[in-house]
Amino acid sequence: MIIPNLWATELEYRRTVLKAVLIVIIIAGSIFVVNNWFSGFQIYAMVELAVVFLCIGILAIHKRTTNLTLWCCIFLFALYTVILIGIYSASFNSGLFTWLFIIPVLSYLLLGIRLGTIYTSVYMVAGIAVLMYDLIYNIADIYPITIANIVLCLAAIWALSYSYEYKRAEAVERLQQMASLDPLTGLNNRLLLDSIFEMLCQSLTQEQSSVSMLLLDLDHFKKINDEFGHDVGDKVLVEVSTIISDMRRRNDWAFRFGGEEFCMLIPNTNMRQAEKIAERLRLAIDKITVIDGCPLNITISIGVARWPDDGSHLPQIYKAADERLYKAKAQGRNQVISE
Ligand code: GH3
Ligand code: MG
Ligand code: MG
Repeated sequence: MIIPNLWATELEYRRTVLKAVLIVIIIAGSIFVVNNWFSGFQIYAMVELAVVFLCIGILAIHKRTTNLTLWCCIFLFALYTVILIGIYSASFNSGLFTWLFIIPVLSYLLLGIRLGTIYTSVYMVAGIAVLMYDLIYNIADIYPITIANIVLCLAAIWALSYSYEYKRAEAVERLQQMASLDPLTGLNNRLLLDSIFEMLCQSLTQEQSSVSMLLLDLDHFKKINDEFGHDVGDKVLVEVSTIISDMRRRNDWAFRFGGEEFCMLIPNTNMRQAEKIAERLRLAIDKITVIDGCPLNITISIGVARWPDDGSHLPQIYKAADERLYKAKAQGRNQVISE
């Protein structure tokens, strides 16, 4: 599942790259338009002018568009087509074929691995075919080594662009995981709570719109650390998170808030169902009796709140769940409180 605020940073990166590329193409394109117009290639100059206007239009909307990938596809389609027409119609000495070298770079930077590979494959094959046609039919004494050099250089830039984007995407994914997962338990950390809550609220239908929040806190956990040591304490935290994870249904989310506090977001449940889930969790945790050979009596207190009954925003829901958790502690711990 794509997590909105993480995907947003990736989109921001693409927007920045697109802006830089558009500015370069607008400047270079304008120079080409003037040059071609006064060199007698008015039709080609008009086509280039259309691409320059397209670039200016995309530059104007690149920050706010919700269809960034689509606009990148349209821009690259127009740019690459003009490059191919230019290579086909201009002489080899114009050096226009050198623009082929930017195809893999731009495709991977703007479209990512999958779409970037499709665009690069299509336009590289087309570009080399147009170039070969041009060389064979228009220049009789072209050296085979010239063709070999161009093709090898294109292949090298393709390989480098692919590796760069592959490694970049992999590193971004790893960083996002490190930033969003708790290293001890593997559960999501608190940083993700806002965006996941928002995503759940937005994805729910009118008839089934509810998200229950369970706030869980281990009882007298400090005693376990004091009595058996931090290592055993850590194993208890892992065991509890495993129970929470195992009880989670496909659309539920589990978090560790640091320390011995956990949270669950459960979409589409009424209060009775949320209470039942909380009670099942409490009983399952109560059943832990031995960890690492140490006899333990582990219990947990749980506060339950529900969106939209307890408020329309996350801070209100969290406050209600926290107050109920506090109440559970005050009333003797090892219990679920939902009002
Ligand atoms: P209460 O029932 O009121 O919640 O009491 P408590 O002892 O569970 O709560 P308290 O906030 O007093 O203590 C929490 C303890 O959790 C203190 C801290 O040493 C321990 N702790 C926090 N993070 C970790 C961790 O990552 N590993 C281990 N082993 N202990 C941790
Ligand atoms: Mg505690
Ligand atoms: Mg606590």
